Parts: sequence; structure tokens; C-alpha cells
Amino acid sequence: MVDLKSLTMEEMKAFVLSLGEKPFRAKQIFKWVYRGAEICDMTDLSKDLREKLLKNACVGNIQIEERLISKDGTRKYLFKLSDGNFIESVFMKYKHGNTICVSSQAGCAMGCRFCASTIDGFSRNLTPSEIIDQIMKTEEDTGEKISNIVMMGIGEPLANFENVIKFLENVNAEDGLNIGYRHISLSTCGLADKIRDLADINIPITLSVSLHSPFNEKRSDLMPVNKKFPIPELISAMRYYLEKTGRRISIEYAMIEGENDTKECANELVRLFSDMLCHVNLIPVNKVKERDYKKTSADKIEAFKNKLCRMGLNTTVRRSLGSDINAACGQLRKNRMNNENLSD
Ligand code: SAH
Repeated sequence: MVDLKSLTMEEMKAFVLSLGEKPFRAKQIFKWVYRGAEICDMTDLSKDLREKLLKNACVGNIQIEERLISKDGTRKYLFKLSDGNFIESVFMKYKHGNTICVSSQAGCAMGCRFCASTIDGFSRNLTPSEIIDQIMKTEEDTGEKISNIVMMGIGEPLANFENVIKFLENVNAEDGLNIGYRHISLSTCGLADKIRDLADINIPITLSVSLHSPFNEKRSDLMPVNKKFPIPELISAMRYYLEKTGRRISIEYAMIEGENDTKECANELVRLFSDMLCHVNLIPVNKVKERDYKKTSADKIEAFKNKLCRMGLNTTVRRSLGSDINAACGQLRKNRMNNENLSD
């Protein structure tokens, strides 16, 4: 079965040709899919074509399994996929528009020590359909239009490269969700080879790099991926990305008490990045109950930020939304999977 929600326009054309149909049908079907239609709703197609589609294709649908709604309007969704897997998305209301944080994989193989998404390991890559449907189902459920997307949910997007690129293409397409690339951020733990591949494709999204420490030894301890792509290699890929795209890179830095919040860390960050077109985003680390990390105090984060700014590194502290439903990313999925295993 072909999932029509996973096909790019080019792939849709090839698919309709394979059914013995004219290429212009591709655009019609593509439009219907992103208006949320099922095959039987596609009334401007011939009955014969609809029957062929019903036989050979489907329109993927993920299901809302649970939703948590915060006082500030933030919503956290647990979605169930057709194979029983679970993923999460978060809907946030900002002045500049509604933002969604989407997952790119079920589970994660990267093993970052402070992250809940990786504790039970990796299950599988999401299809383009399953990534884009997080946006469609959230828009349907909230009745609101989403204008910004961050790929900062469960999974490592660059480890699911092809599907993520197709997803981005369909989100951006005029007959898809029609959301500009400039309204999309993609966050990576630092797969340097894939950052270069992304640079070569040259789409104007914002790249976020999860750094979390400017020292190789500490970073490898927090993020095992650093053993494969140590900081100098990561920085060289970031510079390549900048050269190719000219787009400012965002550096994510989760503040963990006593681990990465010292004066030495601030100095080294400045040494490594002050001549790069970038922006540092400090995030108080979220508590994960399986881990014993503590967040750096608000005062200390502010002082760290001021020090970086004084020394010429553009830095902000991420405002925390939905603090009353503040399960760290990956925890809803984890809780649900544990419950299902218990009931097996
Ligand atoms: N795999 C990608 C995207 C998903 S994680 C990446 O690593 O960038 C999105 C961001 O949340 C990353 O910066 C990640 O390091 C951070 N993160 C993970 N666990 C966290 C926690 N407990 N508290 C704060 N940030 C966390």
C-alpha cells in the first residue's frame, strides 16, 4: 500500500503514471491529501481512478492517544501510529505565531545522557506521512493554524534524512501545507556528515545544533555521538553549512548544574564560536526521573548568559512554556510503553 501522504509531488506523478493516469492527476490528489481528505472524498477524480487508489493506496492517519493542556495554551500530544508505536508533539502559542515541535523517529539511538527519548532505545524511523500528520492532526484538534515548525521532538532528524527532506518539501509546497522554509528549524545532536548533506541541499531552514558542552571529554560523556563526530569536526561542518547557506546557526545548550555551567565553559564557548554567525540558546535542563541531573539555577543561567553576551556571543535563555504539564520530551511515550508492557 502506498501512503499518499508520504509522496512528494514528483513521486505522486510517477505513482499516477504507474496507474495508467495522466500526470495532472498528481496535483489534484496532492491538494486533497493536505486538505485532510480521504480517497473517497476526492470528488474531482473519476470513479475509476478513486477505485484504483482505494486498491493501491491509503492516506496515513495517526491517532491522538492523549493530550495534556496547559494554562498557557501549550498542548502536549501523544500520538499512536498504525503499528502501535507512540510519538509526541507539542503545540505552543507564541506572539509570532503558533509553533509545533514534531518527532522524527519513534525512540532514539543517540543515547544523550540527559534525554528521556533515548532511554528505551530506537524503534524505527517515521515516514514523511507520520511526521506531517502530527501538524495536520494538531491543527484539526486545536482549530488553529500552525505557522512555525521545530524538529526538536523525539528522534534525531538527520538520522532519518530522506524522510525528513521529503517531509520538509511537502510542508513547504504550495499545495502541501504551504509553510515557508524560513519558519522551520531542524535540531541535530551533531551528525557532521549529514549537516554537510543538508548544506548541499541548501533549503533556507534554520539549523540548530545541540552542543551542551564546548569540551570534547565532557561532551562525549553527555552525548556519545561526540565520539564519532568530535567538536572540531562538528564545527567544520557548521562552517560548511554557513558558507553554503549564509544562514545563522542556532546552538542549543541545556544548562546542567555543575556539568556545563562553569566560567571555563563560558570562556571556551566564546573562544570557539564568537567569530561564527550563530546564536546560543540556553535551556534550563528538564528533569528526567531516570536521571539525576539538576538544572542550573535561574540566577546562574542569567549570569552565564550575560557573560557570553559581554564577550560577544549572541545569547538568549529559552522561555519555558507549559510548565504545569512539564513532562520532558519523550516521557509520555515512555510511560505509555511501560504501561503497555506491564499489561502484556
Ligand atoms: N535529536 C535532536 C532533536 C531532538 S532533542 C537533537 O539532539 O538536537 C531537542 C533538544 O532538546 C536538543 O537540543 C536536546 O539536546 C534537548 N534535550 C533533550 N533532553 C533534554 C532535557 N532533559 N532538558 C533540556 N533539553 C533537552
